[in-house]
Amino acid sequence: MNQISKFFTLSSAPGELDLLTGLPNRQAFNRIVGSLLQEEHDGKQRAALLIDIDNLKMINCNFGYDAGDLFIALFADFLIESLGDRYYLFHMNSDAFMVVSPHTLEEDAVTTDIDTMLRRFQLPWDMGCESLYCTASLSLVYFPSFGKDLTELTANLYIANFMAKQGGKNKAVMYQQDMQHVAQTLLKRYQTEEMLRDAVKESCRGFELYYQPIYRAQTNKAEGAEALLRFRRRDGIVLMPDSFIELAEMTELIIPIGEYIIRQSAAFCKSMLDRGFADFFVSINISFCQLQKPGFVLMVLDILREAGVPNKNIVLEITERAAISNIDLIMNSCQELRDQGIRIALDDFGTGYSTLSLLHSLPVDIIKIAYSMASDLTNTPVFVRLMSQFAQALNLMLVVEGVEEGEQLRAVKALGNCYVQGYYYHPALPAGDFAAIMDKEGQKPCSRE
Ligand code: C2E
Ligand code: CA
Repeated sequence: MNQISKFFTLSSAPGELDLLTGLPNRQAFNRIVGSLLQEEHDGKQRAALLIDIDNLKMINCNFGYDAGDLFIALFADFLIESLGDRYYLFHMNSDAFMVVSPHTLEEDAVTTDIDTMLRRFQLPWDMGCESLYCTASLSLVYFPSFGKDLTELTANLYIANFMAKQGGKNKAVMYQQDMQHVAQTLLKRYQTEEMLRDAVKESCRGFELYYQPIYRAQTNKAEGAEALLRFRRRDGIVLMPDSFIELAEMTELIIPIGEYIIRQSAAFCKSMLDRGFADFFVSINISFCQLQKPGFVLMVLDILREAGVPNKNIVLEITERAAISNIDLIMNSCQELRDQGIRIALDDFGTGYSTLSLLHSLPVDIIKIAYSMASDLTNTPVFVRLMSQFAQALNLMLVVEGVEEGEQLRAVKALGNCYVQGYYYHPALPAGDFAAIMDKEGQKPCSRE
């Protein structure tokens, strides 16, 4: 045990030590830094750093929580070694550490320490049987100038750390007065996260699934639907997924929410099959984080069996908003799902990370493209036509989304065998309205062949 942890082991009150790392915890931080803040400082500034591990959730998701704990312990050992007795070091919660200089330090010395840490974070971590990459984002606040009390100090550390993450992670950002506007964004994010957590605790209260019909272009018959998530707040306002899905993914709340989505979608599919819509399929959006979770495939199969829905009536749509960390794991999950008859769709094809190289690695049955993205500058749907030929050559089903106007629909129909989804037909509808609208339109029970 080195000097710094010895110091805290001796001086920390009961309940102030973190069992995993042996470091003082958040209570110790409040007591010790709280009293530092009350000392006379004669205008001299001390440095406080927040070190937030960038991808701990990725480690938990890919390798399990024991591996996550092992990584935190390794990370803490590195900080203890590297910072020596020049700083107090605290483990605040799973991925966050605080570092505080008890004495006034030269700015250059602090910068050198930060550079050393950032350089180390770029190297692999030896986890025994695996070695992996995981970085951290740092924020720096000089106090008491920018932290007169504990509340202000921690708030400013979190604001600057948020800037470091926004700036691409594995960075250090020093707090400056003009960053206050970020506080509003952070507060909103915090409130959304609390709202999602509360909803999950109450069996996903407030989450609702809407269903947008998917038509076969040639026949004008609805053959399936995409399940699209909404959140109804207590005040009745309905939130669209773009305002909370990314946060749900970052916080892993998408795991329990995703299970709820699959259950609801399976029940909806069963109700449509029972109404006589033979071969009706429901297409469910899945986040990569869900696919990486051990046991995901079994969970899906169990839900479908319980609901009495054949596997072939379910499509899982996968899309990626960030670079994929573990393509092998995802590939295996997709293959296992396909082996069981569940179809896989590559969503938002041609945008962002959802590209040809992803299609090359992943076993898929369907590609989805957005018409808005696909129509080119001259307004001739060259891209859609190419995609259609491409899908035919690979024997893939093509779904063109975002078709809003008759002219777009005619262009898509000219391509031959493909599926269409868009406001031209219907937006996403509450489950209760869906079947009623299908009946009203005279949609007859359909069969794919
Ligand atoms: P996405 O999967 O690309 O879904 C298509 C989005 O386009 C939906 O927005 C849909 O309402 C909208 N849309 C459909 N037809 C038209 C049209 O003709 N014109 C225009 N302008 N838009 C159209 P929505 O429901 O707001 O969903 C946004 C995104 O949120 C989805 O994009 C998907 O990435 C994500 N999402 C939605 N539901 C879920 C879910 O259950 N799980 C996960 N993981 N993500 C979801
Ligand atoms: Ca989708």
